Amino acid sequence: MQGKMKAQMFYAPGDVRFEETDIPQIKDDEILVKVKAALTCGTDLKTYRRGHPTIIQQTPSTFGHEFASEVVEVGKNVTDYKVGDRVVGVNTAPCFECENCKKKRYSLCTNLQYLNGAYSEYVAVPAHILKYNFYKIPDSLSYECAALLEPLACAVHGFDRIPAKTGDKVAVIGAGPIGLMFMYLLSLKGCQVIAVDLSDYRLEESKKFGVWKTVNAGSEDHIQEVRDLCGGLGAEVVVEATGFPNVWENAVNMVCPGGTVLAFGGTKAGTTITVDCQKFHYEEITLKAVYHHTPYHVKWALDLLSSGQVDGNLFITKKYPLSGAIDALESIGRQEGIKYAIIPEME
Ligand SMILES: [Zn+2]
Ligand SMILES: [Zn+2]
Repeated sequence: MQGKMKAQMFYAPGDVRFEETDIPQIKDDEILVKVKAALTCGTDLKTYRRGHPTIIQQTPSTFGHEFASEVVEVGKNVTDYKVGDRVVGVNTAPCFECENCKKKRYSLCTNLQYLNGAYSEYVAVPAHILKYNFYKIPDSLSYECAALLEPLACAVHGFDRIPAKTGDKVAVIGAGPIGLMFMYLLSLKGCQVIAVDLSDYRLEESKKFGVWKTVNAGSEDHIQEVRDLCGGLGAEVVVEATGFPNVWENAVNMVCPGGTVLAFGGTKAGTTITVDCQKFHYEEITLKAVYHHTPYHVKWALDLLSSGQVDGNLFITKKYPLSGAIDALESIGRQEGIKYAIIPEME
């Protein structure tokens, strides 16, 4: 499709301009989609403020990565999609060829290519992502809720890889969107979830996701508070969803002997933490990191959204037009609300 579209264009950290740019041209194996709903994400906020080493490779660049859309043009080799289909996917797909992929560690694929441009009117979907990580949206699911697929797939991936069992006491530190997704999934599983956060507002919000107890991380003895809620020994699993090194350390001090800490919040390069090795060894603590998503977890997340087991509406605080995308990112930077839906057709 020839012509111009409106998009939020990233020029440099702090310099994003809402302007006209060319509609992307598709190749024979690709489709062009019209964005119906995009969502704000902490990664996009970080990209806006600091740039991003892998997501933004040249400037100016479109950005944003969580979106649901409608097909408006289909390359001549594409047979699975037609104009008018409601579709959603995620921002990468593994190559299935690198050494990590051969070991089925798809989230560690060394050839991940990122799809950008959720904060635009149109996006060209690369063939590889279209083939492995793209789906039609069931009629029951709204565009806004479908757009949660990527962050939910990340949370489902982490959830799948921790040994939390029904009845276990699990602490989740950080009540941002990803932390709330963990709380929701763990509550659905029948775990007794303790939400830990600095904001009383966010702790109150977390109650909508089934949490059992809330603990304000601002209090000096909050680690002991969590341990006390777990019979004095600590939580069976602690999920760290903030990405701050002192919180990683706190997480290690909240877990029970034999328990698992999931380090899910990514930190800046060069960050280090200190762990009491004696405790680590003699208490047989597992410190586990999980990153990104895999095609298996993307499908699983779509099933959770489609079936209504996970109610996506709980995560969407407010809608903004495309021109307001940066305002929306600034709002999540001030920790107002959970996620904002960016709707180009509201313009
Ligand atoms: Zn995201
Ligand atoms: Zn690979």
